[in-house]
Amino acid sequence: MKFVVIGGGVIGTSIAWHLAEEGIGQVTLLERDRLGSGTTWHSAGNITWKPLADHDASVMYAFETITRLERDLGLSTGWLQTGRLFLAGSGEVRHGFEGFDKAAQDRGVPARWLSGDEARRLNPLLDPGGLEGIWLNPLSGRVNPADLTAAYATAARRKGAVIRENVTAESLAIVGGRITGVATSLGFIPADCVVLAAGLWSRSMLQPLGIALAQWPCEHFYVIAEVAPRLPRDTPSFVAPHELVYGREEVGRFLVGFFDENAKTLDPASLPNPFSFTLLPPDWEKIAPYFAAATRLFPPLETAPIRNFINGPESFTPDGFPLIGRVADIDGLIVATAMNSSGVTLSAMTGRLVADLVTGAPPRFEAGLYDPSRFADRARDLAWLATGVSSIVSAGYLRHNQ
Ligand SMILES: Cc1cc2nc3c(=O)[nH]c(=O)nc-3n(C[C@H](O)[C@H](O)[C@H](O)COP(=O)(O)OP(=O)(O)OC[C@H]3O[C@@H](n4cnc5c(N)ncnc54)[C@H](O)[C@@H]3O)c2cc1C
Repeated sequence: MKFVVIGGGVIGTSIAWHLAEEGIGQVTLLERDRLGSGTTWHSAGNITWKPLADHDASVMYAFETITRLERDLGLSTGWLQTGRLFLAGSGEVRHGFEGFDKAAQDRGVPARWLSGDEARRLNPLLDPGGLEGIWLNPLSGRVNPADLTAAYATAARRKGAVIRENVTAESLAIVGGRITGVATSLGFIPADCVVLAAGLWSRSMLQPLGIALAQWPCEHFYVIAEVAPRLPRDTPSFVAPHELVYGREEVGRFLVGFFDENAKTLDPASLPNPFSFTLLPPDWEKIAPYFAAATRLFPPLETAPIRNFINGPESFTPDGFPLIGRVADIDGLIVATAMNSSGVTLSAMTGRLVADLVTGAPPRFEAGLYDPSRFADRARDLAWLATGVSSIVSAGYLRHNQ
């Protein structure tokens, strides 16, 4: 069989490797620019285990995959297991963490509640006064998303996949309801199976075929502050769902990210072309209330110079789950996109799931949750879609909280 994967982000490269590993045909990945140049390169790279049905298996598989890649390739993905402080800013949030704690104990995960003093020893910037509880989840950390992408690509090449950078997929060729190949900037490439993993550009790729994907991008941001004291590299990351903020150490500095309640949507067609290693302009007004909440938790932030404002586009769906699976009306066409700010975390699971779909192996993950056709014709309604994604950025946060 001939496989073509469109898109060389963290998702497409994972898929290319998983397919190549199956040894069931020739895999070619097409990336119109360089690997990771779309959304992946500026991701915060956090991976956090949470005892949720859809999340547990995916994250455990991510950990297993990272360990395997690093061992087999001798390459670093930047993985650093720091643990994560879950900060409860309200009784309701504490109640949610109590549920996590019980599930973690049942699962044998050595999570525990910390006193304010213990937490301050782990992050000296924290003011624990006013918090209803602090829960330490040790199964959390971060990777360098570019390194993880490069590791997937290296592993894919070793298994015989061909990775073509600077090649654009222009259109899909369909004959009698079946995919036959991809027209590209370098000419036609025949294929029996095409996996569309073009990130926020996936929807427009399918539009000419009359297929609507329920994905739409929002602006998504974090800042990096020059804090004093500088943070040790192994400082646990944090999440504060009540305040809608999260963060971690970044080369001694403090990365603080925000999950916007009324996220700004953007039309992919309005983005510069090429959009390669590109960011959107900072929006200080938008982050102001979240940043103020973050300074209440970490007072030294108030006077810390902000060194970077990272604002990148990321695509979301109205229910917060990605779109992964076969496209109903076209044999041989699979999509894997709209990662709802969890693409680094979900990349291993996505690659595995696509490979299982292709080989017919029983999927190890809840494939039904990700069925790309679950929104039916509502996916065509842009107003509905934009409203849905604008609110899911924060609503999905309690579940994913990167
Ligand atoms: C600010 C921010 C912070 C984030 N933090 C986290 C985090 O902490 N943890 C986490 O798990 N996730 C996080 N994410 C989400 C994560 O970064 C994304 O979900 C993930 O990078 C998406 O990967 P992708 O491969 O789907 O898309 P992309 O990385 O955009 O890859 C798609 C690729 O397709 C290529 N392409 C497009 N059209 C074509 C074409 N026609 N032909 C060929 N190639 C094409 C593009 O050039 C691009 O390289 C964050 C996102 C943002 C914006």
